[in-house]
Amino acid sequence: MAKKALITGLTGQDGSYLAELLVEKGYQVFGLVRRSSSGNLDRISHLSDKVQILSGDLLDQSSLMDVITESSPDEIYNLASQSYVPLSWTQPALTAEYTALGVSRLLESIRRCKPDARFYQASSSEVFGQPDESPQTERTAFRPRNPYGVAKAYAHWMTVNYRQKYGLYSCCGITYTHESPRRGTEFVFRKITLAAAMIKLGMSHDLKLGNLDARRDWCYAKDAVHAMWVMLQQDKPDDFIIASGETHSVRELVECAFRCVGLDWENYVSVDPAFYRPDEAVQLIGSIDKIGKQLNWQPQYSFEQLVELMVDHDLKRLSEK
Ligand code: GDP
Repeated sequence: MAKKALITGLTGQDGSYLAELLVEKGYQVFGLVRRSSSGNLDRISHLSDKVQILSGDLLDQSSLMDVITESSPDEIYNLASQSYVPLSWTQPALTAEYTALGVSRLLESIRRCKPDARFYQASSSEVFGQPDESPQTERTAFRPRNPYGVAKAYAHWMTVNYRQKYGLYSCCGITYTHESPRRGTEFVFRKITLAAAMIKLGMSHDLKLGNLDARRDWCYAKDAVHAMWVMLQQDKPDDFIIASGETHSVRELVECAFRCVGLDWENYVSVDPAFYRPDEAVQLIGSIDKIGKQLNWQPQYSFEQLVELMVDHDLKRLSEK
């Protein structure tokens, strides 16, 4: 019989890629969708006949229990949260409700309704905040620096605690920044690949950026969701960092994107202090030693390949218009 999976955050970047992967693998896929976000199904419209949407909300325990009982999933992936860091400062309590307490409600629902379901919790490199060491490992202390990171740290420890106390197969993947053509244009990676494509096509003439020396550990969202799935196929649950294991600067990113379209970035890019971030001292870079050794996982796409595929996607999409 086909395995069944329930995904929260189905309509987001990761949820849509994970749904694709699981459908490909022959799973019966269910997605938990909030009524208020049900108008926003763009990323999964191509999967509409392959994924069953169930209405529920991480704020409402009984809806979670109903959805888990109805779908009776073998695997549950919690990819939903209030994930926009600036909003976590203006709405800290709501962020905690979704991102922290939502996970308590999910774990409690699993324990009561489907204790043999395997559970993946989307932890984030934001739990490290201002870490003591670089690269970070699964043993690096959590020092979150914003309400989103604090909420994710709570959710992480609850997931570990339910594993220890109740023996649930529950585990956390600590993901670093991951990108794709489905990423919003407010993020620098997509902002740059889209701008390179627009400039190439004569639809724009310049690009304003902030700190070109900022560095990030960027990986492809498709690689990241594959790691999530692999984590739930093991004999024992465990927590892993999911990252590329290398950092690149915004300068390298912009150079690479413009190279893909045959242009010299220096003729188009200017620095605008409006895009500078205060307080950007520490480098977040994930060690992928553990996931490499234990799960034999590594990213399939290099930084350059990721830039290229995103530029190509935007070129194609814009040319079709
Ligand atoms: P996040 O900070 O990891 O959520 O991802 P972003 O894509 O928003 O930012 C990545 C890095 O790019 C940060 O260190 C920013 O300081 C840097 N950066 C430089 N120029 C820009 C820009 O124009 N927009 C954004 N969003 N980030 C920029």
